[in-house]
Amino acid sequence: MGSGERPVRTGCGAVFRALKRLLQRGVVDPTQLALPLRDAVEPTAPPARLTVGPPATTGPRSRGPLAGTPRRRKTAEEQDVAAAARLTARHAELNAERFGGALQSIPIEVSRRLRSRLGYYRVATPRCHSLIVISRRHLRRHGWAEVFDTLVHEMVHQWQDESGLPVDHGAQFREKARAVGALPRARRPVGTAENERHP
Ligand SMILES: [Zn+2]
Repeated sequence: MGSGERPVRTGCGAVFRALKRLLQRGVVDPTQLALPLRDAVEPTAPPARLTVGPPATTGPRSRGPLAGTPRRRKTAEEQDVAAAARLTARHAELNAERFGGALQSIPIEVSRRLRSRLGYYRVATPRCHSLIVISRRHLRRHGWAEVFDTLVHEMVHQWQDESGLPVDHGAQFREKARAVGALPRARRPVGTAENERHP
């Protein structure tokens, strides 16, 4: 490399500066930096990883999944809020279309910490409202159609809970799941055989 010649890092500098800002502001947890960044990764390809430090190689391969990244992206928090809003709207539609409007409106959250499960329904406790949590990783990897399938699945658990039934995958669950077009089991086993937690 000649004197004064800079290594080719087109597009990466802005990403690293943005990442540094997010780290400084506490928006990004350093432990999350190994998360795949994009949903465009082919299923057979190893997940794209964002690593801190200079690119390992330069040249054509340095134009990886980040090459098309818009300069100004929504923050992680903004993305999660937007996704939760879309899920909440879909919950209301599904409630009207498939559950006869019987379900309560409950909070829906998108979690970046949820990595081995697609989502779960949390039953209400004296101190906490019931809640549906959907994995951000699930959305990024599998897209909205499958996330909505997961949402219906969790809504069957919500129906069990609000009907005073045990929250499980028993016969009543399967019967209701068929009635509302929910998948009896989550389509994708992720990490563990059971994709959810039912406290
Ligand atoms: Zn379940």
